[in-house]
Amino acid sequence: MNKFELKLVDGKLVIDLNSEPDMKLIGMPVRGYDGVPNKYDICDLGPAPVIGTVELTDEALAKIEAEYQNGGQCAWCDEVRPKLRPPHMFDRDRDGGRMCEHCWNHDRKMYKGSYGEDIGPFEEEGEGGEEDDSSDLTV
Ligand SMILES: [Zn+2]
Repeated sequence: MNKFELKLVDGKLVIDLNSEPDMKLIGMPVRGYDGVPNKYDICDLGPAPVIGTVELTDEALAKIEAEYQNGGQCAWCDEVRPKLRPPHMFDRDRDGGRMCEHCWNHDRKMYKGSYGEDIGPFEEEGEGGEEDDSSDLTV
């Protein structure tokens, strides 16, 4: 079993995934799982009051790890989400940031309405969108 401390930060329960703080991490954001793959300042998370310990199965830990790999802060709504993807080519102008499902679905609806084009479901894994007819786009 993988044991982690459950801490209280700003009234929120956070699983401290860095049970053995590394001095190199001072000043760096560290992983604190609060339902989404969030990061905290080690100065906030480290000394936060410990509520208890949680045991995570390997499966649960792998899922959280995947969320940290695939998710993060959405470049559109700034929310931390468990899964992000590269934006559709219609949206591609935001410092290479990635987009959450919420924003994707919002845009999908919008494009369907204004362009009559379906950009497809969020979950569809492509190679970052088809480039074939992007030159036809006019602004
Ligand atoms: Zn978003």
